[in-house]
Amino acid sequence: MLEKTLKSIEPFTSKAEKKSRFCMRCGELATKLVKYSTEGAILVEKYCDNCAKEIEDGSAN
Ligand SMILES: [Zn+2]
Repeated sequence: MLEKTLKSIEPFTSKAEKKSRFCMRCGELATKLVKYSTEGAILVEKYCDNCAKEIEDGSAN
C-alpha cells in the first residue's frame, strides 16, 4: 500500500452529484470527496458523510 496523507475533505459540487457515486467504504451514496497526498500525486476517494467524518476524526492523531 502507498502511504497516503489526508489532504482535504470537500463536498461534491452540484455537477458532480448528478453522476451516481457510492461510498468506497459502506456503499451508501457518497457526498464527500476525500483527497489524499501520496508520493507525487493526489488521490481522490469518495465517501458518504458518516465515513468521511470517521476518516476526518481518525486522521487527527
Ligand atoms: Zn460510507
